[in-house]
Amino acid sequence: MMEKFVPDMYYQSIYRIDYEKLYNMGIKIIIFDLDNTIAGITAKIPTKEVIDLMFKIKEIGMRPVLMSNSEKKRVEPFRNALEIDSCASARKPFKKNYLKIMNIYRVKNEEVACIGDQLITDIYGANKMGMTSILINPISKKDRFITLFNRFIEKIIIKILEKRDLFKKGKYYD
Ligand SMILES: [Mg+2]
Repeated sequence: MMEKFVPDMYYQSIYRIDYEKLYNMGIKIIIFDLDNTIAGITAKIPTKEVIDLMFKIKEIGMRPVLMSNSEKKRVEPFRNALEIDSCASARKPFKKNYLKIMNIYRVKNEEVACIGDQLITDIYGANKMGMTSILINPISKKDRFITLFNRFIEKIIIKILEKRDLFKKGKYYD
């Protein structure tokens, strides 16, 4: 059970991820979380760095998809600026919208990687689906109100994982 909270890879940020490696692993779809993964919670539009990164990922031959538990109104400006598909109010870690994405792009779970900053939503959701799970550090310490409870639980989970030598905060790996 606790293993489901352990990310397959762990990087400092989305810019440190080896996307060529993901491509060579057979990844076709990269699901990105929004809040605190590609943008801080107060940002209304993506930075040039994020726009460039999405372009680079497409050039490598993979498709980035935005999947956020935030509402459509929050997600849409990012989707438009990044010119990628999106799924808002996704209710991660529930399976429904992961299945929907697999269905739309006709990919298998092992062809999907998920990147996010939260163990309970992004990592647990991806692991449950058998997708490659990639944790990054949250962009800022500020969270949306709705995330505060998740962070509280997350702290407890991290403590247990550290005790069992399954995961250590700040110890990056791929
Ligand atoms: Mg997030």
